[in-house]
Amino acid sequence: MDIIKSIVEKIKQYDRIIITRHIRPDGDCIGSSMGLRSIIKTTFPDKEVYCVGDDEAEYVKFFNKEDKNDESLYKDSLVIVVDTATYDRISNNKEWLSQAKELIKIDHHIPVEDYGVINYVRTDFPACSAIIADMLFSCEELKIDDEGASSLYTGIVTDTGRFRFRGVDSKLMNVVSKLLEYNVDIESIYMNLYTKEKEVMKLQGYVLNHFKTTENGVSSIYFSQKTQEKYNVTAEEASSLVGSLSEIKGSLIWVCFIELPDGKIRVRLRSRFVAINEIASRYRGGGHAQACGATLHAKKEVKLLLAECDTLLKEFKEANPEVF
Ligand code: AMP
Repeated sequence: MDIIKSIVEKIKQYDRIIITRHIRPDGDCIGSSMGLRSIIKTTFPDKEVYCVGDDEAEYVKFFNKEDKNDESLYKDSLVIVVDTATYDRISNNKEWLSQAKELIKIDHHIPVEDYGVINYVRTDFPACSAIIADMLFSCEELKIDDEGASSLYTGIVTDTGRFRFRGVDSKLMNVVSKLLEYNVDIESIYMNLYTKEKEVMKLQGYVLNHFKTTENGVSSIYFSQKTQEKYNVTAEEASSLVGSLSEIKGSLIWVCFIELPDGKIRVRLRSRFVAINEIASRYRGGGHAQACGATLHAKKEVKLLLAECDTLLKEFKEANPEVF
């Protein structure tokens, strides 16, 4: 609570607040930045508030637009970075960021780096949007509008896989319940989030026909540039299919590899029961225990990463035969 008070105090001290987030935006980082923008604007209408990021993503286009980023905004400003574990992953010009007077970090990832004057990290919440909602409801003077509540709700829905992942508990549902007291159009949110372009749907058919599973149950799919071109999908669209591998019985780890135009390979890793973030961190990545990402610099690393995941599952299987 004290830390929430000190964040609110900092916000009060500044006329201009810039909210920014991680690269390759997802529902939670956009939801939490839009939600926080609404809280500051609704509570302190005289303040200038901007939501900015350097890259856009198709997937979050239905959200309200972010603001135009400009170097002139930064001098004497307060920057609040949401949902971003490391300074390096902030989607913003680092020279511009260094001109800000102070920077606050609000995040729910496993803490690896404190880069703010205040670092408010809550790994007990499964979404950064839930931290922002909890701040709102723990501090009486803070207000939000319907749009902001809808953004936070959307962020929570996306990062919990529609309330299915570990971390969904009564504390989370309590803030969700309070968000739903606002006018949140659930039907429209779910339509925007969970319908797919026809091309992506067809690529999903490819995934179901071509995924591979290792001896101990690591399932994976590799999207070459050629496959992405054949199905006429972007790398982002291909990567959105990681969840298609989540329903294979006996498979506790599933991985999606996406070849990028620059030759690097983006990896999305997901798991049940076992923590895989240490493996991700050995391949230039990180994230959560059971949902993380990495970047490969050569195709031969695909085999190595899968072998590490397979060994992890072998050990887990031996120690926990009842799970299988
Ligand atoms: P993704 O598969 O991209 O949805 O990532 C899952 C989680 O891991 C997200 O919270 C990301 O912010 C984090 N993550 C993804 N890639 C990386 C990376 N290369 N380094 C650190 N964290 C990552």
